[in-house]
Parts: sequence; structure tokens; C-alpha cells
Amino acid sequence: MLPKGLRVVRLFDPWGSPYCTCPIKFTLNPYTGCGHGCLYCYARSYIRGFEKPHPKRGLMRNLLHDLRLVPKNSLIELSASSDPYTPPEARLGITRRVLRAIASRGFKILIVTKSNLITRDVDILSTSRSSVAITITTLDHELARRLEPGAPPPSARLEAIKKLTDAGIPVTVRLDPIIPYLNDSIGSISDVVAAASEAGALQITTSTYKARPDSLKRLCEAFPEICGRLRRLYVAHGVRTHGYRYLPTAMRLRYILTVREVALKHGLAFASCREGFRSLNTPGIHCDGSLYAYLRVGEASGT
Ligand code: SF4
Repeated sequence: MLPKGLRVVRLFDPWGSPYCTCPIKFTLNPYTGCGHGCLYCYARSYIRGFEKPHPKRGLMRNLLHDLRLVPKNSLIELSASSDPYTPPEARLGITRRVLRAIASRGFKILIVTKSNLITRDVDILSTSRSSVAITITTLDHELARRLEPGAPPPSARLEAIKKLTDAGIPVTVRLDPIIPYLNDSIGSISDVVAAASEAGALQITTSTYKARPDSLKRLCEAFPEICGRLRRLYVAHGVRTHGYRYLPTAMRLRYILTVREVALKHGLAFASCREGFRSLNTPGIHCDGSLYAYLRVGEASGT
């Protein structure tokens, strides 16, 4: 029976996507908005003033209320529509207080972030049932700077993965999204997967960029040299699915198979996210990496 009356913790809602393969989980966004400024960000389409992140009002009071209602042993994800380590977190420490509250009550934790600030909280994550997903779309610093202007560079994220895995915290790397003409070459994909593997990640999860009018406009403004080709792919040949334009199916499948092959070559588990190719996932794992939060320390590497 799902709890009623929650104030800030929510049951994860994939916005009706028929392709979502996430297990049942709860989510919490300590902040409204995100300062990482990713051009492809999906959440930016829905939340006004998204680029100026601010903490939720009455967050801790409401969180403590909700944690009495959420079923014991549930998994809580930070965050589905913002980064819990968005820049103001370095000063405010709100995510750290949230983590303490969640971990001390025995809930499983799933973090999704692009920030190396997460290493500040290794003490909490390594002593709780936690799993971390870190997004790396490219190792090319200049491309990352243009694509994710407010986020730490890929090298800092790799160092964070190393620190987390050294502390026994399971890490999934999200090569997400793959954007045609930007980070879709076999060289770029192989570099990310190899670096993730070397840093100790257990799994690669990938997806292709799904276009919304605003994100496509941002990409066109930042990369005018590929704008025409991107528009042709997504608008003329793409497939409309639940409010997004997907790439042609054969092209998506080609990307997913490429990442899968490289991940498996490195001995990593593999999943794709919202692509409709569930049968290509490593059996028994979840795309979001949440499975690892249910395993005891030391079990994760044998998955
Ligand atoms: S880090 Fe995530 S939430 Fe923040 S701008 Fe990038 S894609 Fe959006």
C-alpha cells in the first residue's frame, strides 16, 4: 500500500514513459532547479527558473514527516529532476543533512549526480545501503564545458568515481545522453567506458538524446554547425514518443549495441534507459543502478 500525504518525497513517476524499466522507488529533490546548465536537460523544459536552484522551503521538517510514512527498506533517489550536488550545495550542505536523515532510518539511497562534491559525503554513503550513478557524456573537456557548462569537468567526475569505489560504494556510469555528431563516435564511447571501468565502476547505463523544442534550440545555438543535421534527424526522420522526439529506431539500436559491446568487453554490466531495448540489459540489473543499494558491501562486484 503506497503512503498518502507525502510532502516532499514522491513515488518515482517516469511521466508515463512506456520504456521506463526502473523498479519502484521514491524520489526527493532537495533543490528546485539545477545550476549545471546541461543543454540537453529534460527537467529544464518543465520548471520555471530552473537555472537558479534553491532549496525547497521547509525541506527538513517535511522530510522528517514523510520518512515516517515511506515503507521501511524503501529506496529513495536523489534526485530525479535536479542534481543533489548542484553548485549551492557546497555552501548550504542541505543534501548532506538529507542524507543523514535518510541513512539513519535505514532507507536505501540512490544518488544521481555530475558533481565530484559527492565525495564530501563518502562517510555517510559508505556506511549505508547506497548506490551512486555519475554521468559522464564525454572525456573531451572542451565539449563537456560547452554541453554542461556549470558541471565539474569529466576528469573530476572520474576522480570522484575512484574515491567512491575505493570506499566500497557501488558506482554506475551514465553515458547519457548520446547526441549525434557530438559524442557518438566509437572513440568517444570507448574512452568513456574504459575510463569508467578503470575508475572502478560496475555498470554502464546509456540512452540517446530525446529532443524537446527548448533543448534542441539550446543545442542548435551552442553547436550551429550540426543544427541542420540534428533537426533533420529528429524532426524529419525522428519518432514522436510521449512528448519527445526520438531518433529513428535503427539508429538508436546501433548506438545502444555499440555501448553494450564496449561495456561487456570491459566486464561491466549494461543497461539502456527509456529506449525500449530491455532484452539487451544485463539480466537481473536495473538501469538506474539501484540494485546495488540492496546488496551488502562486497556483493556488488559479483553481480
Ligand atoms: S545536472 Fe541533471 S538536472 Fe542539472 S542541468 Fe544537468 S541534466 Fe539537468
